[in-house]
Amino acid sequence: MPTHKITLIPGDGIGPEVTAATVKILEAAGKITGASFEWHTHNAGADAFAKTGEYIPQSLYDSVKENKVALKGPVTTPIGGGFTSINVTLRKKFDLYSNFRPVKSLPGIKTNYPNLDLVIFRENTEDLYAGLEVMINPDIAQSLKIITRKGSLRIAKSAFEYARRHGRKKVHAIHKANIMKLSDGLFLKCCKEVAAEYPEITYAEHIVDNTCMQLVMNPFQYDIILTENLYGDILSDLCSGLIGGLGLVPGANIGVDASIFEAVHGSAPDIAGQDKANPTALLQSAVLMLHHLEETATADLIQKALERVYAEGKTLTRDIGGTAGTTAFSDAVVAAL
Ligand code: NAD
Repeated sequence: MPTHKITLIPGDGIGPEVTAATVKILEAAGKITGASFEWHTHNAGADAFAKTGEYIPQSLYDSVKENKVALKGPVTTPIGGGFTSINVTLRKKFDLYSNFRPVKSLPGIKTNYPNLDLVIFRENTEDLYAGLEVMINPDIAQSLKIITRKGSLRIAKSAFEYARRHGRKKVHAIHKANIMKLSDGLFLKCCKEVAAEYPEITYAEHIVDNTCMQLVMNPFQYDIILTENLYGDILSDLCSGLIGGLGLVPGANIGVDASIFEAVHGSAPDIAGQDKANPTALLQSAVLMLHHLEETATADLIQKALERVYAEGKTLTRDIGGTAGTTAFSDAVVAAL
């Protein structure tokens, strides 16, 4: 079996804690299945700047380019002034156009929506995240929303192709084309064009504000959510709340030449450095990475162990109503392998 070379970006805040817990579990699982990993650690953000004078050191870019796969912890982005988002920069640099975020209930967690299973496909490089902002004068700021035919077609294709391969039945395109008639209108036009190539999959369109209400009232009506960058960002956090919170939901940023796997959540400064963070979201992101690397046996072993820990309900982190710390929780997952 080959050794998988993976770029590890610990991030900051709770990032180093959840990445350490995740690496520990992958190493332990690899000992059972025979999978082996070589971790190439490069950090980004304020921590990297203090050490190298660069927010994203060249060595990190080179490492991702070479390995084609990275596992990343969250990185803090200052609000207002300060540096550009590291996440947005990496997504643009490697053209990671598809942000895939599965939202699936775990056993034993009490929520109003047991057995929810939907996936979000969020366009990851365009929209208001293009970072094209100027002050017209001290009282007027302008942000440009960019939607392209190329960007919309490829995220729509990712969503429908996934639906076909995984036997999913429905794709909802989420938009605000009633107001942004040209930009969201173009996005919808592209979604419709792609939908026509997949006649076996039901296609529907919902306006984003209505979608928020629908998700809270009856999330089971959704199977695949296909949407633009900003709406996808907001809907992901909303959906995480439906199944127990941000500590759980994983993500994959998929591009043509590289992919970066990271949780939906941020650096959670309120609980950083206190052994309180739930590593499940990053661990499930690592499981997505293992599937991407065709390391299926290791992925399944970890997912089953994780689900066993949740079903047992004895060692849960605080966000899920338990008392265990990050370390105790990850030890429980290792013990359940
Ligand atoms: P956040 O996701 O960091 O935290 C929101 C809430 O969820 C907090 O109460 C936090 O304690 C809780 N939470 C998040 N992850 C958790 C976990 N694993 N276990 C337990 N509780 C968890 O959102 P925020 O506070 O709005 O953002 C903090 C920083 O993170 C900001 O600088 C933001 O820009 C950045 N951010 C980075 C990424 C990324 O690197 N991909 C993503 C989102 C936000």
